[in-house]
Amino acid sequence: RSNAEKFEFQAEVSRLMDIIINSLYSNKDIFLRELISNASDALDKIRFLALTDKEVLGEGDNAKLEIQIKLDKEKKILSIRDRGIGMTKEDLIKNLGTIAKSGTSAFVEKMQTSGDLNLIGQFGVGFYSVYLVADYVEVISKHNDDKQYVWESKADGAFAISEDTYNEPLGRGTEIRLHLKDEAGEYLEESKLKELVKRYSEFINFPIYLWASKEVDVEVPADEDDSSDEDESSESSSTEEESEEDADKSDEEKKPKTKKVKETTYEWELLNDVKAIWLRNPKEVTDEEYTKFYHSLAKDFSDEKPLAWSHFIAEGDVEFKAVLFVPPKAPHDLYESYYNSNKSNLKLYVRRVFISDEFDELLPKYLSFLKGLVDSDTLPLNVSREMLQQHSSLKTIKKKLIRKALDMIRRIAEEDPDESADKEKKDEVSSDNDEKRGQYSKFWNEFGKSIKLGIIEDATNRNRLAKLLRFETTKSEGKLTSLDQYISRMKAGQKDIFYITGTSKEQLEKSPFLERLKKKNFEVIYFTDPVDEYLMQYLMDYEDKKFQNVSKEGLKLGKDAKDKELKESFKDLTKWWKNTLASEKVDDVKISNRLDNTPCVVVTSKYGWSANMERIMQSQTL
Ligand code: ADP
Ligand code: MG
Repeated sequence: RSNAEKFEFQAEVSRLMDIIINSLYSNKDIFLRELISNASDALDKIRFLALTDKEVLGEGDNAKLEIQIKLDKEKKILSIRDRGIGMTKEDLIKNLGTIAKSGTSAFVEKMQTSGDLNLIGQFGVGFYSVYLVADYVEVISKHNDDKQYVWESKADGAFAISEDTYNEPLGRGTEIRLHLKDEAGEYLEESKLKELVKRYSEFINFPIYLWASKEVDVEVPADEDDSSDEDESSESSSTEEESEEDADKSDEEKKPKTKKVKETTYEWELLNDVKAIWLRNPKEVTDEEYTKFYHSLAKDFSDEKPLAWSHFIAEGDVEFKAVLFVPPKAPHDLYESYYNSNKSNLKLYVRRVFISDEFDELLPKYLSFLKGLVDSDTLPLNVSREMLQQHSSLKTIKKKLIRKALDMIRRIAEEDPDESADKEKKDEVSSDNDEKRGQYSKFWNEFGKSIKLGIIEDATNRNRLAKLLRFETTKSEGKLTSLDQYISRMKAGQKDIFYITGTSKEQLEKSPFLERLKKKNFEVIYFTDPVDEYLMQYLMDYEDKKFQNVSKEGLKLGKDAKDKELKESFKDLTKWWKNTLASEKVDDVKISNRLDNTPCVVVTSKYGWSANMERIMQSQTL
């Protein structure tokens, strides 16, 4: 086009597009859900703006917040149109030419080797999946603040933008026109599109329409001579059908002769059920529906089910509905960005209107791995995001969400037969339980660290979180165990919970600190994660039992009659030793009852850092 301005894609985008357009990836279907998800985001944005300024919606059709899919079989064009916020010229250049998010190159790298494009939506580059099925794409867009523009690209490293003077005015919103590749002909089949919308976009909260053909019976006068009864200029093709044989002869004489003809007409067919799942009664929503809802919410289209979910309706002073999910896997950067990002993964709605998915006031950091949604009836609608962030009921919502989240996690453990101390239950083979088997250890492997960070950060829920802790011990035989299980196995007279910290279980197993404890049949917890040292500075006790680091001073294994005697007879030696080492090297030299074969050990004082902590601190300052 003569008025087109040419641009080059950012190198990273170009590389991504190359991979996509040449991809042999078999699941090309994903492009449609990405486009629908973008349309839905754009509609959310305009609806949000309309809360404070109704004018932005305009009138008539323009105000209809919907998505439309249309096919042109002859030209092999599939178009998806929304009446969302649209894009200005600048938006088009920025949004469809560069990648803002970090981590994309990691994704490109991974895709190159694995060829798996399924997670593309999670990386903020879903749009480019259009090149799985199209070799030429036009994006026509109209934003309230700008004229209508066309963005176009053949994925050849460049794109062009021109003012749109030839297409029908959109009013507002975006139309994506895919010029399908020859081998992508299946996407011109209505049945295929219906199936895809049903499968992937069922939970989109705006109506999705397909310009669908429909066979209808029409009565036309039957010509006596049966010459030409088809209007050739008619747009729709029609198939003729023999008129039914009329049984009643006398009737036939009265009526003028007509016959029924099948004619193809087109109309907008609604493809999804827009009743939001969270507004439904939890009892009436099936597991499959929750799973599918999770997939669309999290943009996680792996085949895996979420590990757990909780759908509840809070009533009282602060009313809201919420659905929370524990994903089957932790995102690749969960702990990488832990301290610098404060993004929760909950979507906030106020009375069905999407407000934000970057509301960090909804969940504490350590629960940011949860996905879900909150829809509040109590929060005010026509205030800014910033003001909403300050609203007093958010505190109540947050408190309830944490409680529900921890309950949900506890239930994973309770329903997992592998978690049960009860041998009988463990071996019970019911298919229902089998599905839950091993789920908690899966949870723990993915998100255990979050629970530990929670213990450190959330004093209010410390005990609840401590219940969720899992670890190995001197007696757990390579399996994970809990504090409750540890306590149930404690020896008569044992007051403290014993633990030891180090870099690995293998290293700890050989520790001289364990000699005597093992011999006396005490169980000792192994803490081998660097975060465990911090954890144990916050976790002082559990169910009235104190934690005792066995490498620290203060270990009591019960009195021995010989203790006093020994202390007395070695008095001179300990005194000499202490003097020789001088006070800046050791605090004290004592006769110990914690060893068996090893003659002596260096023990940390009660309030000092353990040797392991010294090691961690040293590696951090280096
Ligand atoms: P993401 O949706 O994760 O941001 P995409 O690659 O799917 O990543 O889209 C890139 C950007 O392009 C979006 O963030 C949005 O700003 C813009 N965009 C895409 N489709 C539309 C649309 N239908 N209406 C308005 N903006 C859109
Ligand atoms: Mg997207």
